[in-house]
Amino acid sequence: MKSFIFLLLFQLQITLSAQEKKFHLMIDPGHGGNDAGAVSHKTKESDLVLSLAKKIQTLISTTQSEIEVQLTRSQNKYVSLDDRIKNVDPDLYLSLHANSSISNQVTGMEVYFQPEQKIKSKMAIDSIVEDLESIGKTKHSHLFSEKLQAQWSLSPSIMRRSGFYVIEKTSFPSVLIEIGFLTNPVEAEKLKTEAYQTQIAETIVNAVLDYKKSVQ
Ligand SMILES: [Zn+2]
Repeated sequence: MKSFIFLLLFQLQITLSAQEKKFHLMIDPGHGGNDAGAVSHKTKESDLVLSLAKKIQTLISTTQSEIEVQLTRSQNKYVSLDDRIKNVDPDLYLSLHANSSISNQVTGMEVYFQPEQKIKSKMAIDSIVEDLESIGKTKHSHLFSEKLQAQWSLSPSIMRRSGFYVIEKTSFPSVLIEIGFLTNPVEAEKLKTEAYQTQIAETIVNAVLDYKKSVQ
């Protein structure tokens, strides 16, 4: 009887900890402080992505209690690329940026995930495990990129692979989103508005929810 009660308590504890485990989302508003990023049409990339990051955080904290959101910066200050990914292990990491081009005609969203991983032919078990982990990370980053592209109806969108520091040097699923081109006058005007930023925040949150459903 005693062991039965213990077993029951143990199972209850497992159920509770599974329910309590929140999905940890990390949002990284690019640039900040002296590094303004792209500056065009009186708008700084660093201010724009910080405003968007806060909108995503507010939207999630008011509607999604099972998701915990953390920002790599919540003020207009410089944070090194290394500090943005140090000592964290989120379920998903999203780095927010705004684009620029030499042409003022280019428009739309770009979502980046890691370059293809190839299994190295080493015999050491550590390197095989490392390879498999990095393939798993890339697969999940790709999955989120697909979910975002599927949700995105605000502008043309494209999915690309690239080795940006904050997505390359991580061990967790991580994606970099260029939300639009500040150099395109029409897109820059839209990006400045609260209404369009809210639409972007809602689209990203919907993609996070879709992704979370697929991996949990
Ligand atoms: Zn940037």
